[in-house]
Amino acid sequence: MKPLAEAQRQVLATVGRLPPGRVPVWSSVGLVLADDVIATQDVPPFPNSAMDGYAVKGADVAAVPTVLRVLEDVAAGHVGTATVEPGTAVKIMTGAPIPPGADTIVKVEDTEPGDGAVRIMAVTEPGTSVREAGGDVRSGDLVFDTGTRLTPAHLGVLAAIGVAEPTVFRRPRVAVMSTGDEVLAPESPRLAPGQIRDANRPLLTGLLSELGAEVHDYGIVVDDATLLRSTLLRAAEECDVVMTSGGVSMGEYDLVKAVLTELGDIELWRVAMQPAKPFAFGQIRSTPLFGLPGNPVSVLVAFEQFARPALLSMMGSRLLFRPRLRGVLAHDVHTDPEKTVFLRMNVTEQDGRWVAASAGGQSSNVLSAAANANGFAVVPVGTGSVDEGSVVELEMFRWSETRTYEDVLG
Ligand code: AMP
Ligand code: MG
Repeated sequence: MKPLAEAQRQVLATVGRLPPGRVPVWSSVGLVLADDVIATQDVPPFPNSAMDGYAVKGADVAAVPTVLRVLEDVAAGHVGTATVEPGTAVKIMTGAPIPPGADTIVKVEDTEPGDGAVRIMAVTEPGTSVREAGGDVRSGDLVFDTGTRLTPAHLGVLAAIGVAEPTVFRRPRVAVMSTGDEVLAPESPRLAPGQIRDANRPLLTGLLSELGAEVHDYGIVVDDATLLRSTLLRAAEECDVVMTSGGVSMGEYDLVKAVLTELGDIELWRVAMQPAKPFAFGQIRSTPLFGLPGNPVSVLVAFEQFARPALLSMMGSRLLFRPRLRGVLAHDVHTDPEKTVFLRMNVTEQDGRWVAASAGGQSSNVLSAAANANGFAVVPVGTGSVDEGSVVELEMFRWSETRTYEDVLG
């Protein structure tokens, strides 16, 4: 059996990087910067008010109450004409430019309006509530590095500094197909004896969509060598990555295996892991191919351990692997000591520590339990049994909401 880390290294050494291109900032979330972003403008672009209130000279509000003459009102998006002189103020809204002569904003709550004047009720330190130009981003700053995977907040910053089309690595086009005579479309209302519905394409489509890949659906390919060959070749031609499921296990009628190995530079592996031990990987005409196992939980685990880091690498990301925590087991577990075992767990925080409990059946066909899991307990090679209360590594593949309305709001 091939050690997991060796298999992961081999996959990552094979996949290249997708070409960069410019993408509207609107649709760049999840994509990765192919260039350093250097600001050519300040954010904010001009000094402005952090509060609704009055722009004044700090020296005028060192002792209160005091009355200042109001010269004009300035709203956000407008520029006033007045200069603040001793004894005067400009009424100002949040985001409006600081008028010449002013150095301090007194917030409206600390004032009382008068006729053409304002009474200042609170001593306000000079400089209060003034946002300096460049206080967020300064022109010339290296804002984000190459290899940064864009989050919504990154998009906002890019927009603010005028980068409307960041240069990012292209979204990978991923071909997805299921194999097997027994597999029917998910829409099939009835199953004949021996048939099952295709769980793997919807599963993979979801995983790939979450990652920001472009999914190309090649459907279900029955166990027919000619059809499989032509579909694989077409997919390798049209896409950046090909992903199949099924047909790579040991006792399998070896049609998928035979076609895969004959078509390209593809190896059949037995990785020292559970689930997802049988796994085919290689290239068809320089397009990486992931020959995932048939069982849906194996598909999930093989995707997480091989395809996801590889796709992130192709997308240019520096960060490839999911976060891990250390937590304690809620019960004993018994695993094969010759394999790295990925148990599907419910990980919760209890009294300040992470606790992992099995999410249900741990067989590789029981996707329903995996669907309710948020993390893997990773039991390394050479371990075998682990007792309740022992510390294990938890790889979190789903950080989602954990608190209800009642939990938070009563
Ligand atoms: P295989 O490796 O092709 O022998 O498949 C292993 C197991 O996974 C078998 O029980 C298959 O019926 C099942 N399987 C294969 N493909 C799918 C699929 N697309 N959806 C659900 N189960 C599948
Ligand atoms: Mg099959």
